[in-house]
Amino acid sequence: MDNCLFCKMISREIEPDVVYEEEDVLAFRDINPQAPIHILLIPKRHISTLNDLQPKDAELIGKLSLAAAKVAEQEGIAEPGYRTLMNCNEEGGQVVFHIHMHLVGGRRMGWPPG
Ligand code: 5GP
Ligand code: ZN
Repeated sequence: MDNCLFCKMISREIEPDVVYEEEDVLAFRDINPQAPIHILLIPKRHISTLNDLQPKDAELIGKLSLAAAKVAEQEGIAEPGYRTLMNCNEEGGQVVFHIHMHLVGGRRMGWPPG
């Protein structure tokens, strides 16, 4: 996608602070962290929102969760705990329209979320 910020990170037109990478997934630090650890995990294939997911994307979405758990271990927050979440569309708080999983931790998370 030509005008997608996260696609530009995948192509390295914009260089993110990468913490983990595998064939289908890229993980990098959020530019405006909401917790001591705040990492975004994105599929390397452009999908705009969770509403656009197709059955064929099931494995890819699973890979995001597996990668998040791996990065949590790498960042030392696996044992104390962390949160993963994906925002969808306006009321869900999505501002970048290339699906991404937030991995946040390093402090106690509140509930309910804002
Ligand atoms: P959303 O609100 O769409 O779920 O999350 C978008 C996230 O992308 C936000 O947490 C925001 O801080 C992050 N973000 C926006 N622009 C950039 C950028 O240029 N670089 C990085 N690393 N993160 C960004
Ligand atoms: Zn994209």
